[in-house]
Amino acid sequence: MDANTTYAIGDEIDFFCKKCRLNLHGNVAALQGDDVAKVTCRTCRSTQPFLPERSEEELRAGLMKRAFRIRDRRQQQWTDMEKARTDTKALPDVTKRWREATENVNANYARKYTETASFKAGDVIVHGVHGLGIVTSLLHEQGMLALFRKAEVPLPMNMPPTESDE
Ligand SMILES: [Zn+2]
Repeated sequence: MDANTTYAIGDEIDFFCKKCRLNLHGNVAALQGDDVAKVTCRTCRSTQPFLPERSEEELRAGLMKRAFRIRDRRQQQWTDMEKARTDTKALPDVTKRWREATENVNANYARKYTETASFKAGDVIVHGVHGLGIVTSLLHEQGMLALFRKAEVPLPMNMPPTESDE
């Protein structure tokens, strides 16, 4: 938006549509002083707070972020599903078991956990959320149970890489 231009309600304006995730044409829907406050997208017809057009780099970064979010959600769904399956064995005193299991472990040898890697029972891993852990058992080809300080959780493994991993 040109800083010297004053807009009126209904004027055509280029902006970034949050819904369409694209730079698009819209019409000014609300003003705050001389600034455009809201825009109605001509493509999806939604009225939303005005966002300036995005550069190509910003658009690409937005797409990446979205891909990661989708992957996180997928991983969460998987974890919830596996949890429901393994919840039957209540696990007393996880922290105590974790302390014993990691007592003689050298954290320098821990492998970074990713859902596309393979692991075996006894592997020492570092998880982005749970921290240092030990693989306690394999559930099946694409799942394992890992013991962390606060919880023993099922985790996916051997998952096919998503496009955003590249
Ligand atoms: Zn739109």
